[in-house]
Amino acid sequence: MRQDSMYDLIGVGIGPFNLSLAALLDDQPEANPLFFEQKGKFEWHPGMLIEGTKLQVPFLADLVTMADPTSKYSFLNYIHEHERMYQFYFLQRLDIPRREYNDYCQWVSRQLESCRFGHRVTDLRRIEDGESYFEVEVRDLENNETKVYHAKNVILGTGSVPAMPKSFQGLPEEDVFHTAEFLRYQDRCRKAESITVVGSGQSAAEAFRELLKEQREHGYRLDWITRSSGFDSMEESKLSLEHFSPDYVNYFYQLPQEKKDEIFPTQGLYYKGISNHTVTDIYNLLYEYSVGEEELNVGLQVLSEVKGIEQNPEGDYRITCRHVETDETFTHDSEIVITATGYQPLVPDFVESLADMIEWDDKGRYKVEGDYRLKTVDQRNQIYVHSGISHTHGVGSTNLGLAIHRNKVIVNHLLGRNVYHIPEKNIFQKFHV
Ligand SMILES: Cc1cc2nc3c(=O)[nH]c(=O)nc-3n(C[C@H](O)[C@H](O)[C@H](O)COP(=O)(O)OP(=O)(O)OC[C@H]3O[C@@H](n4cnc5c(N)ncnc54)[C@H](O)[C@@H]3O)c2cc1C
Repeated sequence: MRQDSMYDLIGVGIGPFNLSLAALLDDQPEANPLFFEQKGKFEWHPGMLIEGTKLQVPFLADLVTMADPTSKYSFLNYIHEHERMYQFYFLQRLDIPRREYNDYCQWVSRQLESCRFGHRVTDLRRIEDGESYFEVEVRDLENNETKVYHAKNVILGTGSVPAMPKSFQGLPEEDVFHTAEFLRYQDRCRKAESITVVGSGQSAAEAFRELLKEQREHGYRLDWITRSSGFDSMEESKLSLEHFSPDYVNYFYQLPQEKKDEIFPTQGLYYKGISNHTVTDIYNLLYEYSVGEEELNVGLQVLSEVKGIEQNPEGDYRITCRHVETDETFTHDSEIVITATGYQPLVPDFVESLADMIEWDDKGRYKVEGDYRLKTVDQRNQIYVHSGISHTHGVGSTNLGLAIHRNKVIVNHLLGRNVYHIPEKNIFQKFHV
């Protein structure tokens, strides 16, 4: 079924990045956007909304405040509307619970008429019939009906999906699963004899901490294995955090692509390490448990790369590991294996159908303009992108606070005027000479 309206922007996916854009555009009467999300409602990494986990950026990096502190969609207004101002005031914290950030985003999403949930974008075509526009095919997942919408521009906010090594795939998912499914299988963990977490980023640490808290109550053996040389902390000093600023994005963007490809892999600890407070919680628990005990039923193994996994006749799993420095091989048995092996950007298949209009680099990645449009051959209709831009815009591409800066730039370009002032200098240090 065709829809006759011509939208000036259609958004694919409603995670925090497109939700922020929808909230900012809601204040612009001349904007006519529509956003689609396949999930039935806004949900932010539901498998990791563990009680006690916190947003890793200050609440000021909500959906709107960094662009417009007067917006009615601010986190403070959410607190105000829910009559929690005094409690929040006495809490005296910038790092809000992750569950509260999700609840706040849901509150915003319910107020935005431009957001449609339970709708999957299945195809995207460019049409030139005198006018030039996109035809966006969307399936309503409730009644399986497909409709076609028209838009002058589109924005991809499809986020990322859990990355699971091939060798872990195809095994019973209640036994071998990604941290993205942690809460779904937490009860299953409580009944297990042994559990192993593989990986050493923030998600691995949060899952391990949660399992460690309950380890004595449920009596399972708990192991944590990583190929890294340590359970390294995230770089959280204030001057390091300045890498998550528009100034660093601008500096990084103008570097030659070969230089960016050289630098980006060295910046893992800015965003991939473990928060200091999580490491401290884990260490405190281990210390408490060790009082009066000869041996803990817990193991932490570094420098060990998991090479394969197979099911034992008894039903549990045998992991084969290689020590990355001594080259020794060893095996480890566990009833449950949780992989904390990160996420990879989701570039939808339908982008392929636009391949001819997009410019690609020699590694097969799309090229992206400084203002977050894909580089296209004619630039008549814009494809803005939030996802899969680390190779062009660097380490802050998945950061919640910087997403608001990105949306300011996108709104200015989309509406063809300076809706938001974008200051040149925002931080103390300089990255270029
Ligand atoms: C557990 C976890 C915690 C994090 N915590 C922080 C933090 O504290 N601070 C920080 O700065 N960053 C954090 N991040 C990184 C980042 O901010 C988040 O990943 C953020 O969710 C990215 O937002 P997004 O809008 O790009 O994508 P997502 O939140 O991944 O949302 C993308 C949405 O697109 C939908 N979608 C995909 N394809 C289609 C389609 N074809 N049609 C319709 N819908 C589609 C998906 O269903 C999904 O809901 C965290 C990441 C993880 C995994």
